[in-house]
Amino acid sequence: MTLHIETPLIESIPLSQASGREVFLKLEAIQPAGSFKLRGIGRLCEERAREGALRFIAPSGGNAGYAASWAARELGLEAIVVVPVTTSQEAKDSITRLGAEVCVHGANWNEANEKALAMAESDPRAAYIHPFDDPIMWEGHGTMIDEASCQGPKPDLIVLSVGGGGLLCGVVTGMDRNGWKDVPVLAAETVGCDCFARSLAAGRIVELDAITSVATSLGAKAPATRALEFAGDHSIRSYVGSDSSAVSACRAFLDDHRILVEPACGIALAAVYENVPELEDARRIMVIVCGGIGISASKLASL
Ligand SMILES: *Cc1c(COP(=O)(O)O)cnc(C)c1O
Repeated sequence: MTLHIETPLIESIPLSQASGREVFLKLEAIQPAGSFKLRGIGRLCEERAREGALRFIAPSGGNAGYAASWAARELGLEAIVVVPVTTSQEAKDSITRLGAEVCVHGANWNEANEKALAMAESDPRAAYIHPFDDPIMWEGHGTMIDEASCQGPKPDLIVLSVGGGGLLCGVVTGMDRNGWKDVPVLAAETVGCDCFARSLAAGRIVELDAITSVATSLGAKAPATRALEFAGDHSIRSYVGSDSSAVSACRAFLDDHRILVEPACGIALAAVYENVPELEDARRIMVIVCGGIGISASKLASL
């Protein structure tokens, strides 16, 4: 049994008309934990539970921590989500509602992560759950491509968002095992959360000084090394758009498909709504609608 569900792949008339292309949507926003993260984190948590873990320690007040908490609840285990002092009360509340414990530590993610690593180190029955850098997780994320390859036609381009690159590594892993190795990927980020674009341009991992975008779920300071390595044998292009493009796309998508997504997801939609040059000559596009729980009607109105 998996913790995630099979999601629909639908054709989007509004996005097809906006871009003059054929656009399909893989609707990860409807995963029970609100984002694609349940696929990979669910897989990783199930694996660690089989190995005897009794609790998961996840350094993330966002969708990764929420997915780990969801997995713990489903598996009848404990989750401790370690977040920095900057994490919002809403985020903490949504995690505690799942029965997980929130541990506030440190001024930023790095400090919370150090604490999570130390907690996991000192507890033999605990499993540390990284938000994006884990090959077992990527295997799990790859199931969205296992499904898509049966649900619809092969696309000429896959558009997805990149934070630390877990989704990217997972999608490429899934493409490899489904004969889609030749399909290029467009990696979308917002200005201020563009660690992958900068690393791709430099040909090495570049670390951002600060995260300065409303797309907080893309807020990794540096991408996973593997994400950059994948770019060596796959066609992976980059698109960096503004926060306002991401937010406008969230609004348009809510009107067009009645689905509310985070700006982190909006930036991938923005690339298609705005028919950006980075789409090149792709006729048929698949967008990973990655979702996210860090959004509400009032929050969207305030952005
Ligand atoms: C985690 C997340 C991302 C970025 O995924 P990475 O694996 O960090 O690249 C994008 N959008 C949403 C909604 C997310 O939860």
